[in-house]
Amino acid sequence: MNVFVTGGAGYIGSHVVRRLIEAGHRVRVYDNLSEGHAAAVPAETLFVGDLMDEDRLVEGLADGFDCVMHFAAHCYVGESMEAPEKYYRNNVVGSLRLLSAMRKAGAGRIVFSSSAATYGEPDEVPIPEDHPTRPINAYGQTKLDFEHALRYYAGAYGLGYVALRYFNAAGAAPDAHIGEDHDPETHLVPIVLEAALGRRDAVKIFGSDYPTPDGTCVRDYIHVWDLAQAHILAMEAIETGSGRTYNLGNGSGYSVREVIETARRVTGRKISAVDVPRRPGDPPALVASSRRIAQELGWTPEFPDLQTIIETAWRWHQAHPDGYGD
Ligand code: UDP
Repeated sequence: MNVFVTGGAGYIGSHVVRRLIEAGHRVRVYDNLSEGHAAAVPAETLFVGDLMDEDRLVEGLADGFDCVMHFAAHCYVGESMEAPEKYYRNNVVGSLRLLSAMRKAGAGRIVFSSSAATYGEPDEVPIPEDHPTRPINAYGQTKLDFEHALRYYAGAYGLGYVALRYFNAAGAAPDAHIGEDHDPETHLVPIVLEAALGRRDAVKIFGSDYPTPDGTCVRDYIHVWDLAQAHILAMEAIETGSGRTYNLGNGSGYSVREVIETARRVTGRKISAVDVPRRPGDPPALVASSRRIAQELGWTPEFPDLQTIIETAWRWHQAHPDGYGD
């Protein structure tokens, strides 16, 4: 298929692009390179443009695409609480421009990168997809707002979509050629590994008074390579005029302290940690039930355990201590 990937030079997008190309699909990456890296994708796939620029989106989509995968978004919970306008502008306004450009260009199918942050503080874990959605941060709210738009556009304009609610993506491509490189980095796994490399001081543990077994937040870590595979299954299953929503996680929760401990084991390095106050917008525990995507699309994770996830991330960080170096 011909696939148009917004944000394809970013962390998750670039892994999906790799898997799409390996599976024989033709890809165009639409990215403004504000957070993505040109080196993360084959040069011939890159089409530089901004999500806010509808004319450029229409130009990019002009060659006839069977499916759009939409990753271009701001994705930091903490920042979204301090700068919500930035999040609404890009994640909602920019995403609506993408839908408008898709209608103009006749592209009718989309896989959307949504988030576990749409649930807020869950009543139960593992969380099924029909759990109420009550985001507690602006990031999650913008993802949920766009999911709602997709539902109405499907009904009115015949759009076909799949929304994938990611839990915590981590890890790197098994050959360690691409991996995670954010600037600034805010995600736990790369921060812990940078500390292992001696590139930062103690890891700050945001909150140790949560109602969880060791007082720190519990998350469900999913390998980015498994996440990427789910996008291909989703793309193949989309039906015109309707949509599906799927969680993507492994169904096991690990606390911040457990992640640090696992990274100490994997790396054999000293990783200091210090308790600091909670980060606004963090729910105590998020763990997925991914039964629906397993049953309906046959998704099976290849790297479900945290140790393997951290091992692949560690290989990337050791081979690329400066990330992409751009
Ligand atoms: N976290 C932390 N210290 C850090 C970064 C993250 O304690 O330097 C915690 C964060 O509060 C959350 C978990 O680690 O409970 C995962 O955070 P991350 O930002 O990686 O992903 P999120 O869950 O926000 O998508």
